[in-house]
Amino acid sequence: MDSPAHHAPCGASSTGAPIIEAHGLSKRFPNGVVALEGVDLTIERCEVVVVIGPSGSGKSTLLRCLNGLEDIDSGSVVIDRIPLDENPQHRLQIRTEVGMVFQSFNLFPHLRVSENIMLAPKRVRKMSQAQARELMEELLQKVGMSDKMEAFPGQLSGGQQQRVAIARALAMRPAVMLFDEATSALDPEMIGEVLEVMKDLAREGMTMVVVTHEMGFAREVGDRFVFMEDGQVVEEGRNREFFTQPAKERTRLFLSKIL
Ligand code: ADP
Ligand code: MG
Repeated sequence: MDSPAHHAPCGASSTGAPIIEAHGLSKRFPNGVVALEGVDLTIERCEVVVVIGPSGSGKSTLLRCLNGLEDIDSGSVVIDRIPLDENPQHRLQIRTEVGMVFQSFNLFPHLRVSENIMLAPKRVRKMSQAQARELMEELLQKVGMSDKMEAFPGQLSGGQQQRVAIARALAMRPAVMLFDEATSALDPEMIGEVLEVMKDLAREGMTMVVVTHEMGFAREVGDRFVFMEDGQVVEEGRNREFFTQPAKERTRLFLSKIL
């Protein structure tokens, strides 16, 4: 079950071990495309790190390598002190410690909202039906979807489906949440409700890695900003000056196009 350390408040009492430690990540697809080239990324507990960069720069591949959805060619990934290696036990643990939310919501269409959320806690975390139900109710309340518990995904708007998808990821009690353009597929009027849920999580101290094109949101929640291009981390910034006075010309050029 949960290690209490995952929910420890940030600051002095924390063990100090990073939640994510990735070193020298390289990934080349069979078609010859080099998607990642020597990427280093360390994410501390309770940090919200925003990853930006042009399309094709390797942002999605990076997130997928961090939870083992994609194998790396070289480098190392350690999640909450668990190495992502050949050991299937480690891989399973990491899948449960790393929650992921995608651009497409991928809820199970044939299952009600409630079942979508309770499935993994019951199967993977071995929760009882009653425990899983209690957790599901708590999470739906958190994302403002309590009234849609018995609905099927197809009966919900995109924004509602994405909020359920976030609740489903949280149901594993992950140590870190990865968001890959979670609002990019949404109609404009639904973006805000999903960003609000993400802001709440950040405020509660959830460790998050967020790929987004929503720059206002990024500036508001980000503790650190990472700019990627051509499979590499070009530049990192710790404060909001990153957006107005980046050190590297490539970053400046990218920001000038999107801001
Ligand atoms: P981003 O998320 O920043 O847009 P991606 O990580 O999706 O970038 O892609 C990085 C590069 O890897 C791109 O050139 C993309 O075309 C390529 N790529 C991504 N997934 C695959 C795949 N499964 N097979 C081959 N090439 C891929
Ligand atoms: Mg992507």
